[in-house]
Amino acid sequence: MIVTCPHCQAENEVKPLDHINIDRTPELRQKVQDLSCFRTECPNCGETVLAVQPCLYHDMSNQFMVWLWPEEETAPRAEFDPLAGYKLRIVDSLNAFREKISVLELGLDDRAVELMKLLLFMQLKHDLDVVEILFHEFDPRTGDFRFVAVLSDGAEQYAAMPGAAYRKLARDVEERLFTQSGDFVRIDLEWAAQALELLREI
Ligand SMILES: [Zn+2]
Repeated sequence: MIVTCPHCQAENEVKPLDHINIDRTPELRQKVQDLSCFRTECPNCGETVLAVQPCLYHDMSNQFMVWLWPEEETAPRAEFDPLAGYKLRIVDSLNAFREKISVLELGLDDRAVELMKLLLFMQLKHDLDVVEILFHEFDPRTGDFRFVAVLSDGAEQYAAMPGAAYRKLARDVEERLFTQSGDFVRIDLEWAAQALELLREI
């Protein structure tokens, strides 16, 4: 694919990284988390260029796939028949891509995690100008979930939620909501807002 360098406007041919099988190339895990696998050096000016492109991340051990589809148009339907039990997710940003991978690697229910993010967002927005909330880590010692809230001035604020909140939400979504399998599903804050309405109605 052709990527225009934002620094010198040179048009460079970049070999697209359109598929990652993390069991076969585990060394890419860290490069996904720090996004270096999407960075290339412009041969003209030497600056680093971030080339965001559709990329399918496949984790066979943990049975999930996350499809990064950053383009405006809707993603084409998957051309393969995923094995039963696989979680299939589609995301449209690099932050959501690495976040979703972290959540699913831990074996967590990402629907419950998105609902936690929404509840946290609704709490924090009274005092802070939050633009994005991302899952940061799960602390196995305390059972707490930690999130990072990105504020409009670029500052970051950490916030925690207890594991009990996760377990309740995970039980609610499991028992009361149906999530399609067999096709890629978008589970994000927008999904969480709709899910929360449904959970309150039932
Ligand atoms: Zn350049």
